[in-house]
Amino acid sequence: MRYEPVIGLEIHAQLQTQTKAFCGCSTRFGASPNSQVCPVCLGLPGALPVLNHEAVDLALRAALALGCEVQPTSIFARKNYFYPDLPKGYQISQFERPIALGGGLRLTVDGAERWVGLTRIHMEEDAGKSLHEGFLDSERRTYLDFNRSGVPLIEIVTEPDMRTPAEGAEFFTRLRDVLVWIGVNDGNMEEGSLRCDANVSIRPAGRDAFGTKVEVKNLNSFRYLQKAIEFEIERQADVLDRGGRVLQETRLWDSSAGRTLSMRSKEEAHDYRYFPEPDLPPLVVGASRVEAVRASMPELPAARRVRFVDQYGLPDYDAGVLTQSASLAAYFERTVAACGNAKAASNWVMGELLRVLNERGEGIGEAAVSPESLGGLIQLIDRGTISSSIAKDVFARMHATGAAADAIVAAEGLAQIGDEAALRTVIDEVLAANGDAVAQYRAGKAATFGFLVGQVMKGTGGKANPKLANQLLRQALEQG
Ligand code: ADP
Ligand code: ZN
Ligand code: MG
Repeated sequence: MRYEPVIGLEIHAQLQTQTKAFCGCSTRFGASPNSQVCPVCLGLPGALPVLNHEAVDLALRAALALGCEVQPTSIFARKNYFYPDLPKGYQISQFERPIALGGGLRLTVDGAERWVGLTRIHMEEDAGKSLHEGFLDSERRTYLDFNRSGVPLIEIVTEPDMRTPAEGAEFFTRLRDVLVWIGVNDGNMEEGSLRCDANVSIRPAGRDAFGTKVEVKNLNSFRYLQKAIEFEIERQADVLDRGGRVLQETRLWDSSAGRTLSMRSKEEAHDYRYFPEPDLPPLVVGASRVEAVRASMPELPAARRVRFVDQYGLPDYDAGVLTQSASLAAYFERTVAACGNAKAASNWVMGELLRVLNERGEGIGEAAVSPESLGGLIQLIDRGTISSSIAKDVFARMHATGAAADAIVAAEGLAQIGDEAALRTVIDEVLAANGDAVAQYRAGKAATFGFLVGQVMKGTGGKANPKLANQLLRQALEQG
């Protein structure tokens, strides 16, 4: 690589409140256009904003989860610009004094650890939505829906600490996990509750000074984020290779063309004429409030991952997979509580359970098999009642019928045959029917043993206790 990429992200996350940031209108997604509006969020003259303290608590939650320093005083400002989806003519946003500074996330990408620092987290309100499509006269008109205007957001700004497209995508993925885990955001990128802009520049390898950055907007999936960064790196390298200069500009990701397109240059950039919002007092957050929010926080994914390794003796890999979502981690812990075998629980949850759910496109919350039932199945294996291969069939039936493992095993007669006399009968039959293989084994061809074991398993419908079957078969062969 002749050039080293430098990447910083700006992420907007909707705070999961019932009502908007500065009025009592509902934030529910999908309501009919302009049904959740009032004089405040429509910017009618004389209407006054009142801060939603639930939104502040959620912003504090995000700040604490990301290790930021909460600022005792922060200030809302007016960011002025004209756009049809912004009826007030300004957006209320924290500017010079945001609610939190610093913090960051540790990532593991391709086996290497990287710390991505945060510059800041600030609170702001969302704008409305322009509807360019879907109406008979959409060719000529744009319609406006203000249901989203005034919905509370936080903007999370990272330091330019990432160096590859994969690191950018990994940061966004981990950040989404944390925000969803702590209940700050619903993680729904299709509905726009989580949006990411990527700042990308390149510099000749070995040089300290950063190159000119380009900001790419409209990245509403992990894949688009990665693709857009990849595209920008190539495009900028091409410009430099031809002796040109990268222009500082805002670009848009065009997902159908798989490329970025210029939206506006630095010269066309807005001057937002920020000034403090005169209708809102400074936001003062006392130490006791921060402590109350901290006390209400769930265990964070990184801490839970460490605990899973310590408490259950799991490999770090398992702990990482199981702590990717709060619901998966809870499912695992309930399974262990039910069966007492952590490694088996981990194998079943990461293996069969996730496989079946992925196949059906279902989430863990929709799993037909409860953690207690899965624990029951694991106990049957641990006690030697069924073999692990039969257990997979039992699991599939549990998933299809919702019945408990022991009920299925009893109803279908799937318990292992651990009865020596019964197994000997089958073994005698197998030996009588496979004279050639027996002769070969006795002549020193050890490999035929496996074949004979297979025949015994077949003769018992897979239900022979494998250890006992092996032992009895060997005895029978040796004796004959
Ligand atoms: P602006 O003034 O254009 O908003 P900031 O300095 O506030 O720029 O940074 C905005 C985002 O761009 C941050 O995420 C930051 O990490 C990132 N960034 C800043 N400089 C660069 C650069 N040279 N290359 C890539 N990203 C950058
Ligand atoms: Zn309103
Ligand atoms: Mg900036």
